[in-house]
Amino acid sequence: MGTDLAGEITLSVVIPMYNEEAVISGLVARLRPVLDGLHTEYEVVAVDDGSRDATVALLTAQADEWPQLRIVRLRRNSGHQAALTAGLHRARGRWVVSLDADLQDPPEAIAEMLRLAQAGADVVYGVRADRSTDTVFKRQTARAYYRLMRRIVGAELPAQAGDFRLVSRDVVETLRQLPERTPVYRLLVPALGFPSAEVRYVREARLAGETKYPLPRMIALAWDSVANFTAAPLRLATWLGLGSFLACLALIAFGIVGHLRGVTIPGWTSLFVAVLLFGGVQLVCLGLLGEYVGRIYATVQNRPTFHVGSDTAEDQPATPELS
Ligand code: UDP
Ligand code: MG
Repeated sequence: MGTDLAGEITLSVVIPMYNEEAVISGLVARLRPVLDGLHTEYEVVAVDDGSRDATVALLTAQADEWPQLRIVRLRRNSGHQAALTAGLHRARGRWVVSLDADLQDPPEAIAEMLRLAQAGADVVYGVRADRSTDTVFKRQTARAYYRLMRRIVGAELPAQAGDFRLVSRDVVETLRQLPERTPVYRLLVPALGFPSAEVRYVREARLAGETKYPLPRMIALAWDSVANFTAAPLRLATWLGLGSFLACLALIAFGIVGHLRGVTIPGWTSLFVAVLLFGGVQLVCLGLLGEYVGRIYATVQNRPTFHVGSDTAEDQPATPELS
């Protein structure tokens, strides 16, 4: 495994990439001077998340001229957080920074992150102080998301801290121990409670290409975030059930008393409403239960959430080839 050499180099920069051909040259042009300027040993772990475009070809071409660029290929598209997991597991740095490929997070901030880490912080969050380049929809949904998650996870959760962050080797090793199947690192890392610091930055527009987080994926991330951290929706189902049960009792009393007095509620509308309403409540509660049971099932199955097809750091022959 890639962690045999864990801690031997100072910094790893993990970059998940899914169909990012449009940004690679721009990314390398901006990232490389920053990392070279640190004057320390580093590696860049580009995790190809099953791209179907020229991402891998372009990365390979870049790696010819940039020996610190390492390419880890996943066999199929496994999602942003799974790609991050692959990168975190294979990174060898004493510190590991995760960065998006699209330059929405400025690589220049890595220098400051490293400085804060060397001063003692185990986690340094990149906090988006300004995201005016995002769409109104993205901003509003993000605000609602962080507000909800702060209620669930706790106030130590930094708002507007996405996946641009530095973590120490201790944090990486702790994360590796967790059996989480759908990790949401922006919540998981603060929940570990390591000493932390923040670097604030202005979120830029995507360099090129399209977002890889369309609405269904945003919803999936939000639901993973909730389900990973709380069973409150199940408790809500209990209250919903209790509420409808009490409503039923009232209706039953109303019906019986009415009947005894010779007044019956006419027509089938009342029946129809009652059956459909309570049928609906039951299905919602059952669905919620199923969501959690499904998670338990997946955890018990314990299948890997990603498959690494190749890693350029391991392709090198153990002994230099004789020519
Ligand atoms: N990404 C990935 N696998 C996916 C989707 C996204 O590795 O299935 C990567 C993507 O290449 C990018 C990062 O995750 O480096 C964040 O995606 P994006 O910038 O599209 O998200 P947004 O900034 O729009 O939320
Ligand atoms: Mg982006």
